[in-house]
Formats: sequence, C-alpha cells, structure tokens
Amino acid sequence: MSLDLDIQYVKGVGPKRAKLFKKLGIDMVKDLIFYFPRDYEDRSEIVKIEDLIVGEKQTFKAYIAGSAREVKTSRVVITKIPVKDGTGAVELVWYNQPYMKNNFKIGEEYIISGKLQFKYGQLVVENPVLEKSEEDLNLNTGRIVPVYGLTEGLTQNILRKVIFNALSEYLDEVEEFFEEEFLREKGLMNLKEALLNIHFPKDEEKLARAKYRLKYQELFLLQLALFLVKKSVKEKRGIRFRKVDIKPFVSNLPFKLTSAQMKVLKEIILDMASDKVMNRLIQGDVGSGKTIVAAFAMYIAAKNGYQVAMMAPTEILAKQHYKTLEEIFKGTDIRIGLLSGSLSPSGRKEVLEKIEKGEYDVVVGTHALIEEDVSFKNLGLCITDEQHRFGVRQRALLAQKGENPDVLVMTATPIPRTLALILYGDLDISIIDQLPPGRKRVKTYVIPSSMRKKAYEFAIKEVKKGRQVYVVCPLIEESDKIKAASAEIVYREIYKDAFKEARVGLLHGKMSDSDKERIMEAFVRGEIDILVSTTVIEVGVNVPNATVMIVENAERFGLAQLHQLRGRVGRSEFQSYCILINYSPSETAKKRLEVLARTSDGFKIAERDLEIRGPGEFLGEKQHGLPEFKIANLFEDIDILKRVQKDVESLLEEDPKLERHPKLRQVLISEFYDKVKDIILN
Ligand code: ADP
Ligand code: MG
Repeated sequence: MSLDLDIQYVKGVGPKRAKLFKKLGIDMVKDLIFYFPRDYEDRSEIVKIEDLIVGEKQTFKAYIAGSAREVKTSRVVITKIPVKDGTGAVELVWYNQPYMKNNFKIGEEYIISGKLQFKYGQLVVENPVLEKSEEDLNLNTGRIVPVYGLTEGLTQNILRKVIFNALSEYLDEVEEFFEEEFLREKGLMNLKEALLNIHFPKDEEKLARAKYRLKYQELFLLQLALFLVKKSVKEKRGIRFRKVDIKPFVSNLPFKLTSAQMKVLKEIILDMASDKVMNRLIQGDVGSGKTIVAAFAMYIAAKNGYQVAMMAPTEILAKQHYKTLEEIFKGTDIRIGLLSGSLSPSGRKEVLEKIEKGEYDVVVGTHALIEEDVSFKNLGLCITDEQHRFGVRQRALLAQKGENPDVLVMTATPIPRTLALILYGDLDISIIDQLPPGRKRVKTYVIPSSMRKKAYEFAIKEVKKGRQVYVVCPLIEESDKIKAASAEIVYREIYKDAFKEARVGLLHGKMSDSDKERIMEAFVRGEIDILVSTTVIEVGVNVPNATVMIVENAERFGLAQLHQLRGRVGRSEFQSYCILINYSPSETAKKRLEVLARTSDGFKIAERDLEIRGPGEFLGEKQHGLPEFKIANLFEDIDILKRVQKDVESLLEEDPKLERHPKLRQVLISEFYDKVKDIILN
C-alpha cells in the first residue's frame, strides 16, 4: 500500500532528506500524514501596509519595489530589499544571509509575514517569512500556518511543502474506519477532512473540529483496546483458590484490619475464589496498609499449594517487604525467599533453584524476578508493589512466569477514576480510602530558605528525644548551573557544623546497592539519626521511629511526590513533622506547596498536581507504560476522554466483538495487534 511507502519517494524528499525525516520518526508516507503540527500561527488575515501596526506579527501582500542593498560591517552583512503595496513601503531585512539578494525579481508579488519594526529610520520586517503569491497554494503565509517539530537541516517551509505533497498524493488512500452513522451521531469530522485540516486548516472552526476528531480517535482506540483486554482476561480461566483457614495467620497480627482494608480484601478473596483470572489494582494512599492486604492474598495462594511472586521497584523496598513478611508470617509455615540484584552468583543460583523446586512459597524481589533464568514451579499469584514505577510490560512479563496466575498490583499514587481507566484500563480497581486508626496527622510547614537553620535546630531536638529524621535533597552532586541543595553538600554541612551530636548518614542513587543497603539498615536499626538522601527513599520505606521529614528545594518536586515523601513519617504514635524548604521567591511556588500544608488527602493532592503539571510529569515520564500520544493530552482532554469512555462502553455493549464495525476492528488489530489479537481475531 502506498501509505507504507518509504518517504524518500514523496515529492520534495529524496534519499538525503529522508534521513533527516527519519530522525523525527517519520519513515513512511503515513507517518508523514500523521506528523501533526505542534502549533499554529494565524497568518490568514492579509493587511494593507498602511494598516500594519508596529510591534505586531502580521501578514501583508507586496511586490518587490527595487534591488537589494547590502550594508557590511566587520561583523555582519545586512541585506535590505524594498517592497510596496500601493498603500505604503517596507524594507525586508536579513542578517548574514547575503544570498538573499539574488532571490528576488523586481515586480514579483509576495505574501509576507513577520513583525513590523521601526529601525534604521524606516519601517522594516526582519527575517520575514515569505512566499510567492499564487492564487490558492500558499502554505506559509496568508492562512493559518502549521508549525512542526523540526530537526537540524529541516525547516518549517520544507515540512509544510513535503506534508502538503504527501497529502495531495496519498490522502485518498487513508480510510475512514468509523461507520457513517457513528460519525454523525458523535458529531465527528471524517478522517480525511480532519487530516487535511489538522495540517492546513481552512479556518479556526475546521481546525478545532479536526483536532477533536483526531484526539477522540486516539483516545478511543486505546481505551477500546484496553477494555477488550480487560474483558478477555475476565473470560480467561484461571486458578480457583479454595477457602483456607486463616486463623494461624490472623492470630499473629498485632492489629485489626480497617474496614477499608476489609472491603478490599473481600474483593480480592472473591476474585481468587472464582475461576476467572484476577487482574486487580489496589490504590491506597501512603500508609493505608496495602502490604498486609497483599499478605492475606499470599497466604491464601500459598495454602493452596501455589507460589507467589512479589515485585518491588527498588532493592531497599524488596528487602523491607521481605522482612515485613517474615514478621507477618511468623508462626505459619510459609517459606519466604528474596531474589535481589545484589546476590552473589552462587547465592543467586541457590535461590533460583529453590524457586524452581518450589521450596519457597513466597518470593520477593526486584526486576530480577522477570529475568529469563527465573522459573517457578507453580506460580499462582503475582503482586507488583508501587505499580507506577513499572510499565505494563513488566507486569505482564511477571505473569508469564505462571499459567494464568492471578495478578494484584498496588499503587500509592492515587489517580482520578477517568485517568485510571486509561492508565490501568485493563484492571479492576479497589481503593483503600482510610488510614489505620491512631495516626496523627503529619504537621506540615512551608518555610523560606532563610529559616532553614531553624528547621535543622528543630530536627536536632527531635533527635535528642530519640526520634529520627529524613532530609531529602533533589540532587546529589554540586552543580554550578542548578543551585539546588545537593545531598552531598547538605550532608557535609550537617555533618561538620550544625549537628555534631547527631549521627548522620548519606544515601543516594549513585551508591552501590550494598552501600545503600548498609546505610538503610543502619537507619532502620536506629544507628543513624539523620538520613540525608535523594529521592531513593521515596517509595514504601517504613521506619516508624522517624518523625521529621525535611525537604530541601521542595519547589522542585511534584506535589504527589512530596506527599509520598511525607508518607515516610507519621508511621507511629509520635507526632510527626514535614518541613518543606522553599527556595523559590515566586508566589505561585509557595501557593503550590501550601496545598500540602492544608490537606493530607492523596487523591486531592494528586488532582491538584495533575492540574498544575499534567500527567507526564505527574506519573513520571514514560513510567506509566502507555504509548505516547500524538495529539491527545490526558489532562487537557479529560472531557474528551470521559466522552470516549462512555462511547466505548456503549459500543462494546451493543457489539462486543465489533462484528458490525469491521473497519474499526481492522484498525484495532493493526494498531494494537499484540494486545488484542487473541480477543478479536477469532
Ligand atoms: P502502604 O499502603 O503505604 O504500603 P504499609 O502496608 O507499609 O502501607 O503500612 C503502613 C504501616 O501501617 C505499617 O507499619 C503497617 O504495619 C501498619 N498497618 C497496616 N494496617 C494496619 C491496621 N489495620 N492497623 C494498624 N496498623 C496498620
Ligand atoms: Mg507500600
């Protein structure tokens, strides 16, 4: 098909330019057609020269009124060309582009865009965008002009020309895949018209409709694929776990589950007892007690004779889970193993053997768990903690180590439902919306850097009471460019001046795993009073005796991330404190941070963060495992997403196998083959 044709054959490209286009990820004709502008400039209004306004970007039509003049100084060559339109005269000016003088013939008419200025005693337009005035084929002026993402060697004019050529020649081959009736019902522009107008819009209204159509389609296809996957998982036969006697387990627990934990646990038990595969996400704010709920599920699986794998994003966390589980399962016969990246080759071999022979019931580990040489005897339940740190793929890889095992994923990043449906659209969602009783709210303060000393004095007071302190800094090394407090500087400072009385430790991501562990363990044992670190401690770490969290350069962190950090304290009966040191003079930065001082509700904070920073930042770039969007934006387009979700749901209700939407089915298969092949191919 010619949409799959290599772009070098498109008029205006050729083999040399094709290489440049490939840098932009454009290989085939269809990539070119779907390479959407990142912005637009409205040059549609053509003004007479006498009506031009100094200081504004405008477009006018004029003819070349004389030959070029050149002014040479030691540093710069200035080229000036006079143009007129019958109402006035303007000079076009270029710097160090002497070849410009040969480009024009007197009398030729151009459409010219640029900012009018008063310079050299006359009206000038510097570095104008211009194009010969032709009846209807002006791509760069006299219209709403697309602005594309570029790479070196390509200009806007080249991209516009080439994309225009591709559209002229190949647009006819793009096929609409929504049914006529569907388009009409949903008020969608048809695909060809949308593609034409996204590049070369006729007017603002057409542009808006084109954008809507293409965003709608992008979100629609992804959501549809996700829902289909979810449905297929539900239809997949999995393990039917028997009921087990949980007394030996429960009698060992030092507390009662909260009602929110109970509610979620019941959902899990129902899933496990059915012969369908469980694919469930537990969302729960930091400290809401997800681990114990997961441990229940582990117990059920293990007592049914199956193995459980639990994957955590960091060594520290994996190790901590391992210890917590040892504690929780004390008094039962559950055997727990730890597979971490820091094992010696022989140690690793031994653990792998035990996993394979089924001598562990529960295996806790990092990414090491999904490596190829890890095989289980009979994996029945997979758990991933802090799901936002893993991609969908890693989750799937773990599950492939068993035969349709049940899957439980946990996250402390609370996200609004609409977004959850697209981020985790293939999962059922349970929410633990309550903290264990007796927790004191963490007192949170936003202070300017001038009060920094006070914060540390306060920390020392807590240390003297026997408590421990975290200090988190955004960077680890001294840097001239970024004047952010670095963990190393803070460490040295605290170490040598302020707190001779305290034992201070440093933890950062560039340390070896074994050094990290050594420090972390010393902190857990209470041998370190103040732990200065980067955000490696962000997720999951549990040291109940720590009561102070100081964050340096708090303005550099996202609210959701700060909330996570704050969640490291307030884990005991002691009053805890979170002190956010703000180095930014901006009022907005301060206001943003104060959201945290006001609320401890993770969902509210997440929503604010999402509003302020958008989902990319919020979820961590590319960590969410979603394909990159070409045109939709999860935050800006949340209303479109809501509509899409409704439309997808009702479509699947009416036509679950897409039998009455064959073209849509075809597109879905071609775009999401891996995800949907088993479901809708047969
Ligand atoms: P998170 O959801 O952030 O992973 P954890 O599972 O680490 O939270 O639990 C946080 C702390 O709360 C742990 O020390 C845990 O033992 C404790 N905890 C969990 N559930 C309860 C409960 N129902 N009552 C009292 N303490 C609880
Ligand atoms: Mg946790």
